Amino acid sequence: MYRIGFGNDIHRLVPDRPLILGGVDVESDLGAEGHSDADALTHAITDAIFGALALGDIGAHFPNSDERWRNAESFVFLRFAVREAKGRGYSVGNVDATVSLESPKLRPYIDKMRESLAVVLEITHDRVSVKAKTGEGVDAVGERKAVRAEAIVMLEKA
Ligand code: MG
Repeated sequence: MYRIGFGNDIHRLVPDRPLILGGVDVESDLGAEGHSDADALTHAITDAIFGALALGDIGAHFPNSDERWRNAESFVFLRFAVREAKGRGYSVGNVDATVSLESPKLRPYIDKMRESLAVVLEITHDRVSVKAKTGEGVDAVGERKAVRAEAIVMLEKA
């Protein structure tokens, strides 16, 4: 038995904030604004797992009105989603994600993201795909106003 889920996320880019993607600190003059650590990639993957389980979205489980999640490490959300899957007899089969960011180039960070995510997802990193795109100078991503992430996740019943 398989279930598939999709998730996406966008965060505004602002000065004086860290840019964390897939749990990895990316060196950048602009960081992601948000209630938690604003890790758009981790949020998209978390939402994809919730989606596969038809458990609503990340905001339903971790409302941004809740002070407990202020500057929270987003791996807390992802870990929770993986636990919810496990509790229903599912493990993550594979993940495919795309991060859209105009700059800096994410290539040097991709393998580290895959490895960090794989640990939390409790799978090997060869089952975690993270791709990077720019915004080609147009739209919110291209104008360096935002970072966006999209992910699909396959869950397998053990
Ligand atoms: Mg988010």
